Amino acid sequence: MPPVGTTKASDMRQKIFQRKFFKSNKEAARSTEFHDLTFSERMSADSLLAFAESSIARAGYTFTTKRSRAVAAKMTTTDPVTKTIWLAYGWDKKSIAERALVLIHELVHVRQAEAWGARKFLRRYLMARWRWIIEMQAYTVSMKATRALGLSTDGKAKRIGKSIHKNYGPWVLFSKSEVVNSTVEILEGA
Ligand SMILES: [Zn+2]
Repeated sequence: MPPVGTTKASDMRQKIFQRKFFKSNKEAARSTEFHDLTFSERMSADSLLAFAESSIARAGYTFTTKRSRAVAAKMTTTDPVTKTIWLAYGWDKKSIAERALVLIHELVHVRQAEAWGARKFLRRYLMARWRWIIEMQAYTVSMKATRALGLSTDGKAKRIGKSIHKNYGPWVLFSKSEVVNSTVEILEGA
């Protein structure tokens, strides 16, 4: 049996770490670093898609559609080193709104990589704390864009929280419900 005192001390350290982690994520999500990507007015899906595509292209990125049916091909990803946006398999079959929302999310990653440099972006992406911040900034903007399109955001924050827990783990210090609840709190308050 471990000494009781040690367990309590590490519990407390974990709690302090969690509180700090959550606070930095909230601050990052609310930061105005990408404030030019806030959407106050109602937009059409076509104009949002055109805006996302042209902004990404202007940063020197090219688009390539994934050809494999593997699980990883279901997600659209950004490679800041080769400046490639890897579009999910079956991209052309997705609705305009879906494509627009995915590319708005990727546009935030493009801007993060432009602001920090590709190497720093990738280094940060490998660190759990930073990865959540990086994703929170992108999801915050896609939540705002969803509202600007006049689409429902019901259950969206919860789904994002679940996918963060599944894909961006292992969040060893957090349970699934903690990740989901904090994601919902951050995104619904954004
Ligand atoms: Zn992302």
